[in-house]
Amino acid sequence: MSRANNHANNRPIPLPRTLRSAGELIEAGLVGLVGADDAQAMDRAAEAMPIAITPHLLDHMAPAIARQFVPTAAELQPHPDDTPDPIGDEAHSPVRGIVHRYPDRVLVKPLLHCPAYCRFCFRRGQIGEDDGSLSDAELDAAVAYIAERTAVREAILTGGDPLMLPPARLGEIVHRLAAVPHIEVVRIHTRVPVTDPRRVNAETLAALRAEKAVFCVLHCNHPDELTDETTAACARLIEAGIPMLSQTVLLKGVNDDVEVLAALMRALVARRITPYYLHHPDLAPGTAHFRSTLAKGRALVAELRKQVSGICMPTYVLDIPGGFGKVPAEGPLIEADSDGRYRVRDRLGETHAYPPAKPPRGAVADTEAT
Ligand code: SF4
Repeated sequence: MSRANNHANNRPIPLPRTLRSAGELIEAGLVGLVGADDAQAMDRAAEAMPIAITPHLLDHMAPAIARQFVPTAAELQPHPDDTPDPIGDEAHSPVRGIVHRYPDRVLVKPLLHCPAYCRFCFRRGQIGEDDGSLSDAELDAAVAYIAERTAVREAILTGGDPLMLPPARLGEIVHRLAAVPHIEVVRIHTRVPVTDPRRVNAETLAALRAEKAVFCVLHCNHPDELTDETTAACARLIEAGIPMLSQTVLLKGVNDDVEVLAALMRALVARRITPYYLHHPDLAPGTAHFRSTLAKGRALVAELRKQVSGICMPTYVLDIPGGFGKVPAEGPLIEADSDGRYRVRDRLGETHAYPPAKPPRGAVADTEAT
């Protein structure tokens, strides 16, 4: 079946009242939060990645939320370190919808839509594609790929945001993955509890009920994202038997501050969500204004460790550009070079320059989205 023949049920559920254009953002008064130049730049920024801001985000539009979701003129500024496909998805995609790096786990991307689009997204070149949902035939091929590889133990649903799928389709995918004998864990990477918590409803919870372990990893970057509705959505997931972890992207002007990070990690733990990763931002084009230096990130994390308990400490990680995998950003695998750059050793012992001196080539590694 071609993608044009996609079953109607595979399509993301459209959201009423989501703001999707510069005009709607201006009408909602959001331009005042970011700057006058940005009004003119928004349409051009939206060419690289669409605009989407949900009613929930609009209702809770704090500065840290605006900075993440409202496009700005800064997205139009190229940077020498910008790297298209920064973590090498394409080089590791043997069939549509699969990204396979480590032998024991695969990413499955059933759609490329999200309720709201984060302006720093490392998949910004793919996200929002009109025809980004896997067709039935493409899903068959993706499941067959996994079924043929007995070393794969974990299937990681990402995207786009998998909780944007209609519950029937989500349930079908979760159950087909869980039914593969060697799959032990199905992991869902999502930002839905933050961007549109009402989607975590009874149908969604029923879709996630499976005969194998199902984990949920929440993408959350600032304590202001943990609204009452978001907290309630996470509680529904946890009370449905789904353990929750979190991942946070270190973002300049959003959370590159030890007090903010400490408040975030404590607030997550208080909601029974275990901090998992703090990601150093990837080198996606148009996102340089969000990137802190590794030196600053390391200093922040060292300070964070002094302030919070072990249960509140995520692992600070760098995804080596080109798809060579994550490495702990604090540890001995990363060494400062004399020219202000770094040498990073991947899990196979190969050394890479960071930021890369030239476009990286693909290799074996692991990564996650959402
Ligand atoms: S970071 Fe995640 S939720 Fe945000 S736009 Fe990218 S894929 Fe969607």
